[in-house]
Amino acid sequence: MDEQTTTTGKTLTCIECKNETQLSDTLKQGDVVECEFCGIEFEVTEAGVEYTLSLIEDEK
Ligand SMILES: [Zn+2]
Repeated sequence: MDEQTTTTGKTLTCIECKNETQLSDTLKQGDVVECEFCGIEFEVTEAGVEYTLSLIEDEK
């Protein structure tokens, strides 16, 4: 299951905790960002005016 989200400008609204995290404007595809509130990680899958982020899930 791939969960994706798109930022508003450079602001990530976390799909888990719904808090907003301001992201750097220098991210590029493949970079990993972390929600500063709940700690889950997203990978940047598209970088432009807005970012498309894909939830990274731990596979065990
Ligand atoms: Zn979060």
